[in-house]
Amino acid sequence: MKKTLLVALLCLLVLMPVMAMGGSESKSSGAAVAEATPTLNADGTFHLPIVDKPTTFTIFLNFNNMPFDPNWRVWQELTKLTNISFSSVISQSNSNESEAFNLMLSSGNLADVIGYVSTSDLEKLGRDGGLIALNDLIDQYAPNIKKMMDEDPKFKQYATSTDGNIYFIPKNQQLKAAEYWWIRKDWLDKLGLEIPTTVDELYTVLTAFRNEDPNGNGIKDEIPVFDRAGWKMPDEYLYLWDTSLEFYVRDGVVEYEPMEENFKVGVKNMIKWYKEGLIDPEIFTRGPKGRDTLLAANLGGMTHDWVSASDYNGKLNSEIPDFEFVVMAPPADQNGVVKERTERFPGVGWGISSTCKDPVSVIKFFDFLFTEEGSALMNWGIEGESYYIDENGDKQFYDEILSGDQTVTGYLRSIGAIYRVGMNQDGGYEIASMNEYGKAASDLYESHPEWYLEDVPPYADGKLDMKYFPEDETRYQRIMSSITPYVEEKFQSWILGTSDFEADYDKFIQELKNRGIEEAIEINQRAFDYYIESGK
Ligand code: CA
Repeated sequence: MKKTLLVALLCLLVLMPVMAMGGSESKSSGAAVAEATPTLNADGTFHLPIVDKPTTFTIFLNFNNMPFDPNWRVWQELTKLTNISFSSVISQSNSNESEAFNLMLSSGNLADVIGYVSTSDLEKLGRDGGLIALNDLIDQYAPNIKKMMDEDPKFKQYATSTDGNIYFIPKNQQLKAAEYWWIRKDWLDKLGLEIPTTVDELYTVLTAFRNEDPNGNGIKDEIPVFDRAGWKMPDEYLYLWDTSLEFYVRDGVVEYEPMEENFKVGVKNMIKWYKEGLIDPEIFTRGPKGRDTLLAANLGGMTHDWVSASDYNGKLNSEIPDFEFVVMAPPADQNGVVKERTERFPGVGWGISSTCKDPVSVIKFFDFLFTEEGSALMNWGIEGESYYIDENGDKQFYDEILSGDQTVTGYLRSIGAIYRVGMNQDGGYEIASMNEYGKAASDLYESHPEWYLEDVPPYADGKLDMKYFPEDETRYQRIMSSITPYVEEKFQSWILGTSDFEADYDKFIQELKNRGIEEAIEINQRAFDYYIESGK
């Protein structure tokens, strides 16, 4: 293993001089032909084809164990338009992306275009000279990407490494809402209750769900709060009291929430809710099938989840005739503030390796996916095959696509759309694929931008996803690998009642300090300050 790493390092060292000369140097190599054609036509439209002669680049991409496949319908269409095609360096049978990635690095044979699941690994490859900095190429040849970076600071922040270079073009997300609060409207109606708007009203409603037999079977078997992602449950339900087990930013200051006042309020309430049977007794262990099981058995009352939670409407009505699972606004916390912490952020995309002979043509191809035409292909598939334009000029999926055996997203992925590349994931296609309950959820949350915080780094599944300076990163990981499991274990013991929260608390805080929490907060503050700076 050590030997292969050494070989990889040597290969990267050989590549370094190319890198040191910066992105613009690449123009002198195979780029002369590409430069002859402008990115845009005189009228401002995108110039197609990108290259005069059919050109193939190698590519490394394996999204969700779907290795890149040049035969996908969308990519054949892209090739027809641009004259550019890609050949996968990963075999179609590959099912281990990280193994394939490490193998490619140790072989020293980098594909021309590289996408990978981990932002920090891609940026490390960039810092080591394996990916070129795209900053100058974007300025010169990618007006559509440049426009998005100028208009959307989050897109730019996500793309920018801590050394100021852009090593990959991210996949942007147009919709803001990620998860929503969902509640059983049929149960509320049966008990004569309204949708709760505050955490106190929520407590009253959940207590009624627990005690007043809304499923009508004469047994006290209702499970008011459930979640299919038990591992992140602590954070999601602590949000009701504006706290979590994680770092959070308030007014530009990073704090570790277990050390703050709201945490005591949140944990005490969750202990009480759990003790009173308002929270699933198996919440920590129930697993991803929990949502299916508890809703189908007419036992579950409320959860926090993605739009797929709306799919049970219609599906369960033959068994549970009145079943209605509807969206509600985030309940106001103990201070009367309505906030939704989960939010979408740009995700990782693709970059250009330092061995690519014609980076100019590749960046133009990257740019094409951000044009209206390229974006429609990547989000909706092929006009006349998967979608049509209606009388109002809006795109609509054909009924066969909407009611097919696959989900719409499943179908789109099978033709190479919505792949993990630099693109703008269009909210329009997502909404067009939702049922009326999903659309209601999306409408409600998208129309309340004030529920979401500005200037928050990617905050996925309760964790801040920050970019650290290389010298901070190792140190931070070491500290948190000792703190995170400790905090999770303590939290579980308080909720389950195997240890006493109030008796433990001061000792708990001391232990966090012993394990280096104050240094971890400082590192996060540095990373946050850089994050804000990089969006300017
Ligand atoms: Ca019951």
